[in-house]
Amino acid sequence: MDFKDYITVVSDFPKEGIRFKDITTLMENGEAYKKAVDEMADFAKEKDIDVVVGPEARGFVVGCPIAYSLGIGFVPVRKAGKLPREVLEVDYGLEYGKDSLNIHKDAIKPGQKVLITDDLLATGGTIEATIKMVEELGGVVAGIVFMIELTYLDGRDKLKNYDVFSLVTY
Ligand code: IMP
Repeated sequence: MDFKDYITVVSDFPKEGIRFKDITTLMENGEAYKKAVDEMADFAKEKDIDVVVGPEARGFVVGCPIAYSLGIGFVPVRKAGKLPREVLEVDYGLEYGKDSLNIHKDAIKPGQKVLITDDLLATGGTIEATIKMVEELGGVVAGIVFMIELTYLDGRDKLKNYDVFSLVTY
């Protein structure tokens, strides 16, 4: 299946000059969404992963069904002010903006093998911040999965020391 047939490229969203990759049209199609999740889960299957971690909101769309498929838990990474208990906070830069991300401090146990997920790798800022949080809590990043990688933004340069899989590249 060519997953690109199900992803919509939207010009000038959310800002002029950005060609936004819209995965909602893939998610709307049950067969495409299931096949995409299955392929991403296959990458993680032999890695003995303990827990999946993903940033809001589209990191949940990718990470939750993978966690379900692997029969393991999912830990959300959220924007500041959203998580109710004690958090670890990390600042990060986006392709189009700046923000900070939070994770519950007790969500990852030292030594746990973690799969990080997101919908899209652009500059790598979001995933770099997520890696930092996982590692500060003592987790071991055993793999990173994206539905989409924008290779022209060179986000992979930030992920040289990790095992990275992306389903679709632009
Ligand atoms: P990065 O931090 O620069 O790698 O940007 C990746 C983050 O920005 C991901 O969490 C994406 O959800 C979001 N993002 C950036 N560009 C796009 C896009 O074209 N489509 C959907 N999400 C995007």
